[in-house]
Amino acid sequence: MAYEAVIGIEIHVQLNAATKMFCDCPNRPGDDPNTNICPICLWLPGAVPRFGLETLEKAIQACLALDCEVQPRSAFDQKVYYYPDLPKGFQLSQHHMPLARGGWIEIMDEKGEPKKLRVHHVHMEEDVAKLVHETEGRTPVSLVDFNRAGTPLIEIVTEPDMRSPHDAMEFLKVLRTQLRYTGCAECSLEQGTMRCDANISLRPEGSSRLNTKVEVKNMNSIQHVGNAIAYEIKRQTESLMKNDPIVLHTRLWDPEKHMTTAMRAKFAGPCIPDPTVSHILITDDWLRQMAAKLPEMPNQKVKRFVQQYDLMHDEAVQMSSEREVSEYFEAVVGLGTSPRTAANWIVAQLLPAIKEHGYAFSTSPVTARRLAGVITLLEKNEINSGSAKSVLAKLFETDQPPEEIVDRFGFRQVSDVQALALIVDQVISDNASAVENYKNGNKKSIGFLVGQAMNVSKGKANPKFLQEILREKLT
Ligand SMILES: [Zn+2]
Repeated sequence: MAYEAVIGIEIHVQLNAATKMFCDCPNRPGDDPNTNICPICLWLPGAVPRFGLETLEKAIQACLALDCEVQPRSAFDQKVYYYPDLPKGFQLSQHHMPLARGGWIEIMDEKGEPKKLRVHHVHMEEDVAKLVHETEGRTPVSLVDFNRAGTPLIEIVTEPDMRSPHDAMEFLKVLRTQLRYTGCAECSLEQGTMRCDANISLRPEGSSRLNTKVEVKNMNSIQHVGNAIAYEIKRQTESLMKNDPIVLHTRLWDPEKHMTTAMRAKFAGPCIPDPTVSHILITDDWLRQMAAKLPEMPNQKVKRFVQQYDLMHDEAVQMSSEREVSEYFEAVVGLGTSPRTAANWIVAQLLPAIKEHGYAFSTSPVTARRLAGVITLLEKNEINSGSAKSVLAKLFETDQPPEEIVDRFGFRQVSDVQALALIVDQVISDNASAVENYKNGNKKSIGFLVGQAMNVSKGKANPKFLQEILREKLT
């Protein structure tokens, strides 16, 4: 029997509000342990939580970016469980009355067709403390760091619309892009500012039933999510083939062993309405103000880039994947360079160079002017594309504008026909057999001869001119 996978995911996103959710402590979990704490986020008896407006604004922006319906009234519940990372015995979360319902994200499926994946709801939640297990030394101990306690989170719960690891990975990529655009969160699985749990079940293909699911946690990159889901589909298929029933439980992804392993069940208590935090009432008027603050979102930007700059769809997607990159692209184009050349240079040269050398990506007008300068020199034929790459590399090392780098390091392209003709003469006399091949009809030899001439010119010749002169002299 053929099975199909039914996958839903739950994503915790840490909002980058300046303070924690219910107190004024800095929202910086990575600081020295237990430095950003107060009676409220230590959950001392009698401390009263005060819900912060910035958390609400950022949470709402995230909901609007996902096309969710923000609820006019939402409220916090106490999610009851006891664990050393939660000494007060409950976590403030929204269970009965979440902040927003519905919403969707569009991805491209494996066939390249657009596919809508629905969001079930979005709710707010405070994070718990962090346990640090010290295993070195005579007595292993577990320590509690409260810097993370009370950090503002939203949890995005999807409908079980995904059918493959591809769907889940694409969902996460688009989600990350959209949330980063709003500026409300960093969304890094690697850094822990985004955490993802996947629920996976199988059913006979064509059935609409929802079977017992297995939850998988502990995936620290989008690739891990894909690998864990693929593993779990295979494991559950094998179980069903052997007539072993699937039991509801939680598993952990082990990236080293490349498998999921069963995890001890955690006690899940009830969710009871919290009496200390007021209900959150949102008016249409305020919601409109929040919507007006949203930037142009990536899918709108892709459409505009295709229309306004004549980019191919894929180029427009690449130029819109990060808000900073898109703004940089428009700054470079605004300086008069051809949009497609600018897009190709940013994708093929600038971003890889930044990644390879670990340069900080700066979208400042100065750097945009410099890249535009390199592209303009290239378009005016003053440098060739090989030199342009060298000039780009030098831009990261010096403070000089591209024109000065070109002069200082002698990158200016030789387009002087007489000078090039001398080089061509030398190459023809030095490479008799390639010349012979060319004359005998092997047209590819011209590429070899141009390469030789480029070497003689130390990479500075205009390759188009070289080829023209060679053809002329060899006929
Ligand atoms: Zn605090």
